Amino acid sequence: MQSEELEEQSEVAEVEQDEEDSGPLPIQNLEQVGVSAADVKKLTEAGYFTVEAVAYTPRKQLLTIKGFAETKVDKILAEAAKLVPMGFTTAADYHQKRSELLHITTGSTELDKLLGGHGIETGSITEIFGEFRTGKSQICHTLAVTCQLDEASGGAMGKCLYIDTEGTFRPERLVEIAERYNLDPNEVLENVACARAYNSDHQTALLNQASMLMTEARFSLLVVDSATSLYRTDYSGRGELSARQMHLARFLRMLLRLADEFGIAVVITNQVVAQVDGGMAMFAADPKKPIGGNIIAHASTTRLSLRKGRGETRVCKIYDSPCLPESEAVFAITAQGIADAKD
Ligand code: ATP
Ligand code: MG
Repeated sequence: MQSEELEEQSEVAEVEQDEEDSGPLPIQNLEQVGVSAADVKKLTEAGYFTVEAVAYTPRKQLLTIKGFAETKVDKILAEAAKLVPMGFTTAADYHQKRSELLHITTGSTELDKLLGGHGIETGSITEIFGEFRTGKSQICHTLAVTCQLDEASGGAMGKCLYIDTEGTFRPERLVEIAERYNLDPNEVLENVACARAYNSDHQTALLNQASMLMTEARFSLLVVDSATSLYRTDYSGRGELSARQMHLARFLRMLLRLADEFGIAVVITNQVVAQVDGGMAMFAADPKKPIGGNIIAHASTTRLSLRKGRGETRVCKIYDSPCLPESEAVFAITAQGIADAKD
């Protein structure tokens, strides 16, 4: 064989190797750098399935794992940090990385435009809040299908994980939406892993299972509909407010980690409540606020506020985003999911 040919082949092999390297590293990789199989097993039992998960976790949290003393945790963190890039990168690299982020179409071109052109972004949390029947769950159902489309059709070619806390997940809606996109409804349903969460601890525990599933197959979307309703029932009264916020903060940190680690889009829904401070609610321009306060505000990269429009139309407003202007879009809820409003 010619030496040039050989070179070419080894280049191809390198590229393939690179492609395999992108994406989260299985936790078992730690065994190759001297972490014992028993410790790796303990890490998986504690809900860490990737090297990234370990690398992004604060030291003091790893110390809570049974049998993990300071020296052990330090060694594991040092090895994880060698495998996962965690230092500074240039803005150019960062820009390149952001331009590779996939987007998932909402089903409405107007709404996609509002979101910067292509729908919701992978790698971060998008929060959708609004009063009842404003279309929060309908958007989630539509995204559960469109996330499976290929890139050219507005998807991210991955499966969907759907955590339902209110019992409003309806697979039959997915069938109707799948037909609109000429997808095989059975395949679409097979690609959505759904779980009903019954309390806020259970909702958090489901995220550990989620990360395990994500190491096994390519997912592009995680939906939590709604992220806050169980917190409202589990923690009532002023006295429990700080415990609630702490638990919620931990839940959101886990969501952020999944978004980051697996490059998936995370979509959470949230209700609104009337503000009760000082009886000023009736005079305020925007009397109802999303639940969760600063904790949710800090975790969500993009916050969308929904309200009812005429008939089946709804209005979406960008509430808070690092790079989108505050503006509005009108969309419609149809039998085939979210679509543009006909005027
Ligand atoms: P909640 O806070 O109660 O969970 P939500 O914001 O999640 O409310 P959705 O369930 O997303 O509200 O939206 C409900 C709206 O969707 C209703 O107005 C209903 O008319 C409309 N809708 C539901 N299913 C269909 C369908 N198959 N075809 C057309 N519209 C539908
Ligand atoms: Mg709903």
